[in-house]
Amino acid sequence: MAPDLTVERILVITAHPDDVDFGVAGSVATWTDAGIQVTYCLVTDGEAGGSDRSLSRTEMAELRRAEQTTAAKVVGVEDLVFLGHPDGRLEPTLDLRRDLSRVIRQVRPQRVVTQSPDRNYERIYASHPDHLAAGEAALCAVYPDARNPFAHPELLEDEGLEPWSVGETWLMAAGTPNRFVDVTDTFDRKIDALRSHASQHSDWDPIAEMIRGWLTATAKLAAFPDGRLAEGFYGLETG
Ligand SMILES: [Zn+2]
Repeated sequence: MAPDLTVERILVITAHPDDVDFGVAGSVATWTDAGIQVTYCLVTDGEAGGSDRSLSRTEMAELRRAEQTTAAKVVGVEDLVFLGHPDGRLEPTLDLRRDLSRVIRQVRPQRVVTQSPDRNYERIYASHPDHLAAGEAALCAVYPDARNPFAHPELLEDEGLEPWSVGETWLMAAGTPNRFVDVTDTFDRKIDALRSHASQHSDWDPIAEMIRGWLTATAKLAAFPDGRLAEGFYGLETG
């Protein structure tokens, strides 16, 4: 697994606005602080989220894009790609695999972070069907589509996008983690990023405490000293 010092660009692929902030924003803040370029790819605009029925779904999509853009700034991310696939009925189609392969070839990341395509029975809410679909399509794009010049040939022939092999892929909410990032010093920024998603929850305080509990448990799993907080991932070599 590549040490962060050799990683220049990281691409985070998630189904919905706010997924990145629940799963990885503390780590993202440590990466951008270290000078690593981080790009977010949002597969849907999250227009099926929230409970406000007075907004049209188009308005909700606009609002959620704006919230995610604000949340990204909090942890040092300015580069966001919104693919606009349908929220709530996402499938790992060839069209989605092509769209993700395009982003991978444009960004040329050494590391992709995405959602696990496997349902986690310990944490069912992390395994929304859209998350499983986004993770499945992202892994198919990492291997083999983005590196194969004959997959989605229009990317090379029409758009001039050369194949790209992603060195490693980290999965969020994938059962037992094997990669840990100490986020004790960036926890407050992670929570501030989450608070940017005001359309989703009016009171983030209890959620912040719940997340502190998760990250404490993950730090224990990592054998970090008492009082530390960690985000955990299942990392696999994909180079
Ligand atoms: Zn989600």
